[in-house]
Amino acid sequence: MLDIDKLWSDVSDKLSAQMITVSYEVWIKNLEPVCVTKDGALVLLAASQSAKKMVNKNYQTLIDTAVKESNSLLSHALIIEESEKEKYIKLQDENIADEKLYLENKLKAPAFTAKYTFDNFVVGSSNKFAFAAAQAVAENPGTKHNPLLIYGGVGLGKTHLMHAIGNYIKQHKSDLKILYTPSNNLTNELVDSMVKGNKDKDVNTNFREKYRNVDILMIDDIQFLAGRTGTQEVLFHIFNDLFQNGKQIILTSDRPPKEISPLEERLRTRFEWGLIANIVPPDLETRVAILQKKAIVDHAAQVSPEVLRFIAEKVESNIREMEGLLTKVIFYANLIGKPATSLDVAYDALKDYVDNKSNVVDANYIIDVTCSYFNILKSDLCGKKKNKEIVEPRQICMYLIYEILGLPLNTIGGYFGGKDHTTILYAKDKISNLIDTNNIVKREVSDLYKMIVKN
Ligand code: ADP
Ligand code: MG
Repeated sequence: MLDIDKLWSDVSDKLSAQMITVSYEVWIKNLEPVCVTKDGALVLLAASQSAKKMVNKNYQTLIDTAVKESNSLLSHALIIEESEKEKYIKLQDENIADEKLYLENKLKAPAFTAKYTFDNFVVGSSNKFAFAAAQAVAENPGTKHNPLLIYGGVGLGKTHLMHAIGNYIKQHKSDLKILYTPSNNLTNELVDSMVKGNKDKDVNTNFREKYRNVDILMIDDIQFLAGRTGTQEVLFHIFNDLFQNGKQIILTSDRPPKEISPLEERLRTRFEWGLIANIVPPDLETRVAILQKKAIVDHAAQVSPEVLRFIAEKVESNIREMEGLLTKVIFYANLIGKPATSLDVAYDALKDYVDNKSNVVDANYIIDVTCSYFNILKSDLCGKKKNKEIVEPRQICMYLIYEILGLPLNTIGGYFGGKDHTTILYAKDKISNLIDTNNIVKREVSDLYKMIVKN
């Protein structure tokens, strides 16, 4: 079976080598691989609708190429957002039959994300129960709290805690065999084993053999088991095998078991046998503490408490999204060469997020963004100075206004002290040529474009 995480890590390595760090950090690093489709697409989940649009617009071709290079059976990438995710995971079922896409599947030591540790998890009233339960299970697997089920909304740290258990066990009890699988992979594997399995044994037996020697089974996002009758059936038997042998089972879900539907009743009751720990959205103080930790662990950056608070106030119920804003602020600060300790910087970086949909991109906005990007005065940008440091930004600004807003050339001229349409036309042609021939200009335009067109 195709190892999607490995594939994505290959693809992102390629992208990272080709892109400037800022763009890579902001747009690529936040994508999450979901599945591979029958027509050869690697499906990638963007953190938001606007992120999806930006990636589509600016990086689609680059990503397509990297995907093709990483696996010759694939042809392109498909960027989706959260609301489309379920559809693709369902679709995945039908794809497995396309056997050639799936390489040899072997039970290998799962790669837990190194930074998803207990140490890096900030504990607050919203998650302390789940945290304590996860620690107890990591210290004494199989003895109490079996199964452990952690449930809560998207981006609240369920996967983080699961990996933290995995990392802890790998470090402290390295003889234990752990099997970590997102629930949709379970379905893929099952279908895969039907295709490739030993014809003398039934599928169920084949599949269960794989799990016989596992000490700890982790299934992430069990809500996707809903309606998967075949997978549920097999899982029921695996569950019983492991449970009877005192092996630890750990599950996560974005909703309580009774809301996973349709789900076989006998499986549901088993999910509820052990300990159920709920994670709810963290309060403001916890969110600030989480951001503080991320600033240090992920970015080694100094961010002031006011800025952290400013960010934490923007997002209430999804830590992943909040982290995205932190990344934006830190990279914007780097870009303009100011410290991420100033509220002004944070405000500018998140301007579009603050005003969100009500924010209309107009010519003045594009002029403002261009001025702050090049650190020049508006009176200079729109004035008559002829030195290169001003002229090129001015032409880039004209180009962007033309490309983004499609205003008539004369109208654009009006913003620059009444220049006539031939000047604007000249600027537009010159910049579009430079984009093809000059990497610096290309990068400047794409940075600006990204800052301006965020929705
Ligand atoms: P879920 O699986 O619940 O959707 P994740 O575990 O993927 O969410 O968490 C999303 C992001 O938020 C991860 O980067 C994770 O490290 C971070 N996160 C969530 N809760 C915490 C916390 N309490 N402390 C530190 N980071 C957290
Ligand atoms: Mg998760």
